[in-house]
Amino acid sequence: MDNEKKKILIVEDEKNIAQMLAFNLSQAGYGFDIAYDGEEGLKKALEQDFDLILLDIMLPKLDGFEVCRRIRVKKSTPIIIVTAREEEIDKILGLDLGADDYVTKPFSIKVLLARVKSNIRRASNELVNADAAPGDDQEVIRIRELVIDCERYQVTNRGEQIILTKKEYELLLHLARNKGKVFSREQLLEEVWGYEGFYGDQNTVDVTISRLRSKLEIDSSRPEYLFTKRSMGYYLK
Ligand code: CA
Repeated sequence: MDNEKKKILIVEDEKNIAQMLAFNLSQAGYGFDIAYDGEEGLKKALEQDFDLILLDIMLPKLDGFEVCRRIRVKKSTPIIIVTAREEEIDKILGLDLGADDYVTKPFSIKVLLARVKSNIRRASNELVNADAAPGDDQEVIRIRELVIDCERYQVTNRGEQIILTKKEYELLLHLARNKGKVFSREQLLEEVWGYEGFYGDQNTVDVTISRLRSKLEIDSSRPEYLFTKRSMGYYLK
């Protein structure tokens, strides 16, 4: 399986960036296809099976937000959004488009390739886990009124169900399974997002923590579950 050439769809209207990406991906052993506008990108993403999609936001015909949303309705192909500005990441996370990752332009090709690799690996691990025998995930974690039902992927607090994104759920589960342990943002990027070393954007952790907190806590500024250990990291207790 690992030797099979992974194929990546590049959706990018700037030809020089698209070609630079294509060149580096093929050097790293990936196959690729390029779409130069949103409509073409969406069509290719839906008609063919890619292992990952690199998606620009500012695109002619259909913007990256819409392309991402429409792909997600039908497919779970990992999507890395490539955005021009750092500030856009908060907006993108806020929209909850269902993208798996974000990279800010200008990016280092080394970082991008690391992200591509870890997102493809994570997606294939999820497929393996989905096939795992029942019983593996019949765990229910209770922390006072917070209940995480791993079999149903369901979280309730004070008897009410909380709707979490996939990443918020994974983060909560990781912290809950290690109750009381303080995790640095680097550790969370490695252990929850699957990044090796410092390739992830620590801002992603902070934003996901704050979204999780706003869903979990009555008063986010006085948390009862999800705590910040000053200059150390985060923990759940
Ligand atoms: Ca663009």
